[in-house]
Amino acid sequence: MPHASNFLLGRLAQTSLARLAPHLSIIELAAGEVLAEPYQRIQRVYFPHSGILSCIVELADGSTIETGMIGNDGVFGASQALDDKVSLNLVAVQIAGRASVIGPDRLCVLAAELPDLKALLIRYEQFFLAQVQQTAACNAVHDIEARTCKWLSRMHDLVGPDLSLTQELFARMMGVRRTSVTTVAGALQADGLISYVRGRLHIIDIAQLRKRACECDEVVRSNYGRLFQAAATDKLKDKCVSG
Ligand SMILES: [Zn+2]
Repeated sequence: MPHASNFLLGRLAQTSLARLAPHLSIIELAAGEVLAEPYQRIQRVYFPHSGILSCIVELADGSTIETGMIGNDGVFGASQALDDKVSLNLVAVQIAGRASVIGPDRLCVLAAELPDLKALLIRYEQFFLAQVQQTAACNAVHDIEARTCKWLSRMHDLVGPDLSLTQELFARMMGVRRTSVTTVAGALQADGLISYVRGRLHIIDIAQLRKRACECDEVVRSNYGRLFQAAATDKLKDKCVSG
């Protein structure tokens, strides 16, 4: 079933996914598309199959920083659907992809009827909060190169080694100036870890990139493993197979 391309939907009991499926549709996510504005009612809940969604905080001086990343391991909009349907953050598509989507009211009704769906959504919310807390600590304490390596490692997990990424977007997500991105990307390129030409970033050596990353990526990965053990085991197997 295509909806199971999303890890969370794939972990539902078949009977629950069958109940959900008639209300899900699959859409394309375009890079840069805004899915939620701060303090606006969400229109859809997104279960990505591919691509990356970013939760972004915008400050009064115009600077921005990413506080959370959602890929095919997660969902955006579920906790809002269960509550008042309002997003507190800006959420945008960072890397294009596809997602299964559902209306928030419909998801709320189905979560009340399907205990495994509700439990899964609550568990993911717990993971996401931990991810955001780790990111807050990381942004405050770790240096730009370590954070960049962590960020690229997480993106590698979610979408693989080829990323379409302008320096401007790179800087906005990291909360740094473009010149800092140029310096860090130049150093990683000189050491043979990445190639980065005209907005196309290719991760050449993920093992070395992870060695230079701060511990935060591993912490987030192990949190996910604790909460979704079977999914994490499958993912680990995939990683071993793909090298
Ligand atoms: Zn960190």
